[in-house]
Amino acid sequence: AKGAGKNQYKLFDKETDRLLVRKMELERDLRKALVNEELEVYYQPKWDAESNHVSGMEALIRWNHPRLGVVMPSEFIPIAEETGLIVAMTRWMIHEVCRQNTAWQSLDLLHICISVNMSIRVFESGLLGEMVEEALQETGIKPDNLELEITETIAMYDLQDTIKQLKQLKQLGVRISMDDFGTGYSSLGSLDELPIDALKIDRLFIRQSDLTSKQAIISAIITIAGQLNLEVIAEGVETEEQMSFLKSRGCRVMQGYYYGKPMNAKDIEKWLEQPDN
Ligand code: C2E
Ligand code: CA
Ligand code: CA
Ligand code: CA
Repeated sequence: AKGAGKNQYKLFDKETDRLLVRKMELERDLRKALVNEELEVYYQPKWDAESNHVSGMEALIRWNHPRLGVVMPSEFIPIAEETGLIVAMTRWMIHEVCRQNTAWQSLDLLHICISVNMSIRVFESGLLGEMVEEALQETGIKPDNLELEITETIAMYDLQDTIKQLKQLKQLGVRISMDDFGTGYSSLGSLDELPIDALKIDRLFIRQSDLTSKQAIISAIITIAGQLNLEVIAEGVETEEQMSFLKSRGCRVMQGYYYGKPMNAKDIEKWLEQPDN
């Protein structure tokens, strides 16, 4: 038994080594990913369950690593944040999303708002305003067709500074939403001070929306959103049950695998050609 334990330890060691090597490799290669055009934007539809139409999309980043294949953001965004590369990556992301959206609009394929996820590091850099202004000018996109998704962590890290930056962004005309609402360091008490347009109910609540207790929380979020004049959107909707529960509680816009997974630009175009979309 002792011998087996020792072997197990070795096995575990190997797995740890493999992960460490992978992390070092990703760290080393991430800098080149931007210039080598290995980053790609995936788009996930937001669905208006009242009018049964696509009402928007969320942009989600992917890294097509030449050797390792598709790397997910959960693995490389933390590295991008540690190294500061997140600022350049977000600049690229905002520009690419505005460019793609303008292209779709000129083809008359879509006239929607697309959201981009924000990192706390981007707010710290103080460069977000100029990034957004630049992308709007260079692509000619209507400002309200761009949305920035912030989190409670970003809002509460330095509340006064965040409010100041968000107000400047609102002056440019872009939309702001609060992502993962209800899971972060609570911003509930300051929700009325933040110049935001929408609340996104976190996937965790939707996943457990068969529980009466989670249903109560979801209903409360929908009520608060309504009273503060904020749009509300549910993320991670996977089943018909979840969809009809949310609809019955007055949530109109939904996003999740039930409606569509994140897809690259080409696949989104095919998806849009389907008669039901
Ligand atoms: P998020 O902003 O909360 O994005 C939602 C995540 O849930 C996405 O994972 C999406 O693919 C996934 N998802 C959507 N619908 C469903 C569903 O029905 N079921 C399940 N199980 N999952 C669903 P993804 O694309 O892996 O992104 C993970 C996180 O990485 C994002 O969470 C966001 O925090 C971050 N991220 C992604 N792209 C960017 C980016 O360009 N910049 C920054 N700063 N962060 C990003
Ligand atoms: Ca998001
Ligand atoms: Ca989210
Ligand atoms: Ca999340």
